[in-house]
Parts: sequence; structure tokens; C-alpha cells
Amino acid sequence: MDQKKQVAACIPIVPFKGVAFYDIGGLLANPTEFALCMDLLVELLTPLCDKFSAIGCFDARGFLFGPLLGYRLNKKVFMLRKEGKMPRVIDTVTYGKEYTGDNKHGLDSLSIQEGSVNAGDSVILIDDLMATGGTMNAGVELIKRAGGSVLMCVCLIELGALNGRQAITMNHPDTPFFTLLSED
Ligand code: IMP
Repeated sequence: MDQKKQVAACIPIVPFKGVAFYDIGGLLANPTEFALCMDLLVELLTPLCDKFSAIGCFDARGFLFGPLLGYRLNKKVFMLRKEGKMPRVIDTVTYGKEYTGDNKHGLDSLSIQEGSVNAGDSVILIDDLMATGGTMNAGVELIKRAGGSVLMCVCLIELGALNGRQAITMNHPDTPFFTLLSED
């Protein structure tokens, strides 16, 4: 089987809080496919290694991939967390939460810590899944406000029908986007 399909096959799509939810827990439960997934991400980012200095990962499922990538690529890792979850926060972006969760159509906030990004830094952002693009967009905003730039936004899965990629492209046309497992 194609390697990406092998990884995708481990992520069940189950009803959860009113949506078809991609359960990343399935991937974690399959060490061979999880290792394969990490290898594919490493393969993607290795040629870019001299162009970025850090990897930013999103609360909460981005945390499953960011630190392992940082370890493999010998890069600094930082967290982008929901508001009120960590000390030394220097900036917070609030954005519309339109897709999942208890407060559907409500607001969500993402914060960045002091020292995560310095002026001139180029970073990679990683999350498990992009739906409307609100989370990724907020991440790019935080990096830019800290004086940095995003070399590439990376996610495992992209829900194409929700037009998240267009949202990123509209707000940050200079930011490339990569999805590991396409939906086809
Ligand atoms: P967005 O902000 O609408 O793009 O939603 C993306 C965020 O919601 C990411 O941080 C994901 O972890 C989370 N998310 C949304 N849907 C799913 C899903 O089906 N599986 C796992 N995470 C999801």
C-alpha cells in the first residue's frame, strides 16, 4: 500500500460533537504507521532545515508531532496554546471557532510565549488537521506579530470543503501550505 494511504488508514473518522472527527488516537495506537508518518514529515522538512530555526505546534494535537519533529531535525520547538494555559505569554490572537467543540460558532484564543520567536526568525507551523483554517491563521498572525515569518504551514489532514487553505492564502499569501495526507 502507498505509505500515505497506510498512515491515513489508521485515522478513523468517527462522529464526535456533531461532526465527522478524524481521530488521531488511531495513529498513535499504531507504532509502525506513526513512525512512518514522522518519517514522511522529516523527509519533507529535511531539505528546508537551513531555512528555518524553530517549529511551532498547536494546542493540543499539534503537540503530538511538533516535539518529535524538533527532536529528529534538531530544531527548537515552541507551543501555541489556548489562552490561560501557560506563563510568560506575550501575545494572544482571538479568532472565530466555527467547526468543532462545545462552543461552536464561538471564539477561541491562541497565545505565544516570550522567546518563542525572535525578530527575523523563520519557522514551521504544524498541526494535526486544518478545518476552517482559523487556528492556523491565528498561528501565522502570532508569528508575524512577533517579527518572524512562516516558511511553511504543515498539517496531516486538510478538510478541503471548509476552505481553510483559501483563508490562509487570503490573509497570508506569502505562506506556503503542505498537507501530508490528501483526502483523495
Ligand atoms: P480550524 O481552526 O477550523 O481549522 O480547526 C482546526 C483545529 O481543530 C485543529 O487544531 C485541530 O486539531 C482541531 N480539529 C478540528 N477537527 C478535527 C478533527 O476532525 N480531528 C482532529 N482535530 C480536529
